[in-house]
Amino acid sequence: ERLARALEDLEALRKQNKELEEIFRDIKVDSFKGDQKEAIENFQSRLTKAEHVYNTNQNALFVSPKEEPNSQYELLRRRISTNTKEFWYFVHSGLLDLQKKTNGMSSDVVNTINHLMTLGGEHERSLLHDIHQIEEVDGYAAWRERESKNLSDLVQMRFEHLQNPPDCTTARKLVCSLNKGCGYGCQLHHVVYCFMVAYGTKRTLILKSKGWRYHKPGWEDIFQPLSKNCLDPTGESTSNWPGNAQTQVVNLPIIDSLTPRPPFLPLTIPEDLAPRLIRLHGDPIVWWVGQILKYLLKPQKKTAATIQEAVNNLGFKHPIVGVHIRRTDKVGTEAALHRVDEYMTWVDDYYNQLELKQKVDKRRIYLASDEPKVIKETQSKYPHYEILGDPSISKTAALSSRYSDSSLIGIILDIHMLSMSDYLVCTFSSQVCRVAYEIMQTYYPDAYDRFKSLDDIYYYGGQNPHNVIAALPHKPLKNGEMTISEGDIIGVAGNHWNGFSKGHNLRTNQIALYPSFKVKNKIETAKFPTYSEITQ
Ligand code: GDP
Repeated sequence: ERLARALEDLEALRKQNKELEEIFRDIKVDSFKGDQKEAIENFQSRLTKAEHVYNTNQNALFVSPKEEPNSQYELLRRRISTNTKEFWYFVHSGLLDLQKKTNGMSSDVVNTINHLMTLGGEHERSLLHDIHQIEEVDGYAAWRERESKNLSDLVQMRFEHLQNPPDCTTARKLVCSLNKGCGYGCQLHHVVYCFMVAYGTKRTLILKSKGWRYHKPGWEDIFQPLSKNCLDPTGESTSNWPGNAQTQVVNLPIIDSLTPRPPFLPLTIPEDLAPRLIRLHGDPIVWWVGQILKYLLKPQKKTAATIQEAVNNLGFKHPIVGVHIRRTDKVGTEAALHRVDEYMTWVDDYYNQLELKQKVDKRRIYLASDEPKVIKETQSKYPHYEILGDPSISKTAALSSRYSDSSLIGIILDIHMLSMSDYLVCTFSSQVCRVAYEIMQTYYPDAYDRFKSLDDIYYYGGQNPHNVIAALPHKPLKNGEMTISEGDIIGVAGNHWNGFSKGHNLRTNQIALYPSFKVKNKIETAKFPTYSEITQ
């Protein structure tokens, strides 16, 4: 009875929350100034979050919390979820192949294939839904939240410590220049790589950014400086990478021309954090990159205000799927063209599954693209969708204006909205979407599976080989399949999203296809400094 009353109270609070939200929506925030405006905007975003938490966590209300799960349990839970998807990729793509061969066949065969596709898809969504429910009812949700916060607090404290040395004139430094000749996502990844090496060598990272192609005055005009007291790149002695322990200032080149390569490069994570990360997160390296971005991307006041204003003007609301459609210079050179409906099929799939869990009033997407026509095309083809997105931002992304101030704000906004979405549909060949996915990890204990990439699996430019370990043996059933013994190490080239991945078996040297479900990820670790002077 007490539970029933508590639930009634909660429902009443939720109604009030909704009413407040409506009242605040009508207030013209722009007529307020400074602090008042900020306070209202803050409150608005908290109300939206509270509604979201209520909608997504109703189950958790009935569960009594338990201490903590063991790693095997967490790994198995994620493995079942991933392999349920792999199972359906395999069967679905087989059915698609069959469908193409049905020309002239009896309608019986055609109908059977259609029936298998439709009901099979429903079956898969139901399985995935149930697996996600386990996460909510097993009693470990509170532990996951706590562990995620503790780990984040720990590494953020270490970053603060590294970046604010007691005396900048004697501090050991690593200098990183923001001058890589590439796009914004690529440049962020350049700075993240520098930060990993700084953390691994215990040198304060100094970012040289004057003349940055996206914003000539430099990084600190847009984001907060990386240190409160140490921004000076000079010192007693300077050398190019690697220098030695006595060199005060070391200049770091871009990852592509780095020799010798230190052990701190992706996909490697710090050994001292590994056991906790492997239990908490489905893809620890993405968590690690996300934490570095969290430290780096603290907006200046002006930038924060611009972001908040854009969020309000757009009417950004959950549930929402972030869709990134990369076109222009990328297509035909580094990636293949994917039509709008390929992306939208996966958005539909996401919402079909979400509807097993909650009522969805409106299917909503945030659409980012460097091709302005894409937003109009999607709006006209998908009128039942609410499509948030700004074609004028896409316009600034044209190659002719890409490296300009307005383009920089545009890409910052797009990445922000994508990362705030509940799910991402995009091509991981683009660093824009990979950055959004990395930042997304900082909003959840584990958001490793909140994406669908139409092409690549997750990778980090300049990474060491991505290896997996065979969990099951395989005897080829068709031409082109790999022979596998349990325990084989395989270097992954990519997932074909049809049940198979391509890879290089390091034992046999064979390059071939293997069933994706037969392997598990190999987490690479290295001895980074442990920052034991920082206690949590
Ligand atoms: P990649 O080339 O897609 O791997 O990503 P990069 O970030 O390295 O370079 C692409 C650049 O194109 C971005 O940094 C933006 O300047 C621009 N761009 C690409 N897609 C978008 C988009 O959806 N929105 C905006 N505003 N700009 C984009």
